[in-house]
Amino acid sequence: MNAVTQESNVVMNTAKLLIDGEFVESATSEWRDIVNPATQEVLGRVPFATAGEVDAAIRSAHAAFATWKNTPIGARMRIMLKYQALIREHMPRIARTLSAEQGKTLPDAEGDIFRGLEVVEHACSIGMLQQGEFAENVAGSVDTYTLRQPIGVCVGITPFNFPAMIPLWMFPMAIVCGNTFVLKPSEQDPLSTMQLVELALEAGVPAGVLNVVHGGKEVVDALCTHELVKAVSFVGSTAVGTHVYRLASEHGKRVQSMMGAKNHAVVLPDANREHTLNALAGAGFGAAGQRCMATSVVVLVGASQQWLPELVEKAKTLKVNAGNEPGTDVGPVVSRAARARVLGLIEAGVKEGATLALDGREVKVHDYEKGNFIGPTIFADVTTEMEIYRTEIFGPVLVVLSVATLDDAIELVNRNPFGNGVGLFTQSGAAARKFQSEIDVGQVGINIPIPVPVPFFSFTGSRGSKLGDLGPYGKQVVQFYTQTKTVTARWFDDATVNDGVNTTINLR
Ligand code: NAD
Repeated sequence: MNAVTQESNVVMNTAKLLIDGEFVESATSEWRDIVNPATQEVLGRVPFATAGEVDAAIRSAHAAFATWKNTPIGARMRIMLKYQALIREHMPRIARTLSAEQGKTLPDAEGDIFRGLEVVEHACSIGMLQQGEFAENVAGSVDTYTLRQPIGVCVGITPFNFPAMIPLWMFPMAIVCGNTFVLKPSEQDPLSTMQLVELALEAGVPAGVLNVVHGGKEVVDALCTHELVKAVSFVGSTAVGTHVYRLASEHGKRVQSMMGAKNHAVVLPDANREHTLNALAGAGFGAAGQRCMATSVVVLVGASQQWLPELVEKAKTLKVNAGNEPGTDVGPVVSRAARARVLGLIEAGVKEGATLALDGREVKVHDYEKGNFIGPTIFADVTTEMEIYRTEIFGPVLVVLSVATLDDAIELVNRNPFGNGVGLFTQSGAAARKFQSEIDVGQVGINIPIPVPVPFFSFTGSRGSKLGDLGPYGKQVVQFYTQTKTVTARWFDDATVNDGVNTTINLR
């Protein structure tokens, strides 16, 4: 089924499964609509794959591993070189699909793809990344060296909020390391992900090396427990990520789970006021607050508490509209259910006694009356006991707390269970240095609101935002997607060696 809708000019699709190099229609009886969050237009539908289809995808990946693991590293790398060029070429088309199914603005959709593209570019340097170590002469005629070998079938389970970037965090790095892969995209917006998957095949990824199944809990559980799966990468909510981590670990898989967040921005009174307020509004309300690294808590320190009215004024200037409309700052949230959930949390904040400094609940968007819109919303006088502080809202809602000193701010952030990202706004190098040293959060921004590392570093969220030791992309993911094998070898000349039987551990 392929058609172009007049309204959005996006190619409609039934999301296919990808098994053994073939895009196939699922035989399932369970389907879900893919809905444009600005219009409620049905863009396509996605199957919940059957147990047999999930098994077939994994077995295809397992069979392909036998040859793919021995494919020369340069050949794997050249596929990634071609892939990055194809993604670049098709970016505007994929961004239109992504914006239509997810809701984010077109420039932000291009940003979503671009941040994934950067990981593919990084995958092109795998020749330098997947190297072992060598120590000569660790004992008489003995050398020790390590091999970084692929581990086998890897699985990726991805969330709705970055349907391009997050799948691209996963399968390119896994594949370029010599593994094969089964991807389970978000069932809410899989169409743009599938366009990226199509390009991967066009770039030369062989049949079976990349497979895709769609679905929800049943499919995820089947992937996490299958005997042939070696590793699981998960990005999504804390509840599901914890479940995936436990289930897959119990079944002997290597697992990494990147999960929910509550990202604080700490504002010192010496910060550049205009820059800081712009950064807070952009990072709090961009992508309608649906970024795992969105700023969701502002901590105003000392005299910066007087900046609240200006923050509210800044937020009021943001244009709420459909993602494909030029000039939009804040698009809709992904679904009606997500909107109802966010509105419920705003209601809870009001009941708990926080001050609603800006109320986005009644926002009206001309021509998009059915859209899942919520305008920028700001709560002041928030305390750490309130639900709006404790829970990840994942909508365009900023909660503002006030403290007296930088020490108070650091203590407050460190008491929060999440550890994805944090920002400090200041012009003091001494304050910044103290902050980066004492703050217990894995990704720190100094005058940067969304400190997502570039792909040659790794994504290093921490504490309640992560389970597992190694993060996505960068050097850490090469460790995650490879097994280190250490070889200790002695090569000697028959004529010169006769050391007899030795029954003690070698003292070297
Ligand atoms: P989600 O947890 O609902 O879904 C993630 C994936 O899990 C999807 O593929 C979904 O189909 C699957 N899933 C859903 N329910 C399941 C269940 N009961 N059992 C097994 N699998 C299930 O997350 P979401 O709503 O798509 O994404 C938003 C969340 O992701 C937010 O909490 C956000 O902070 C988080 N996130 C984290 C990062 C990070 O790097 N830390 C990045 C992006 C998003």
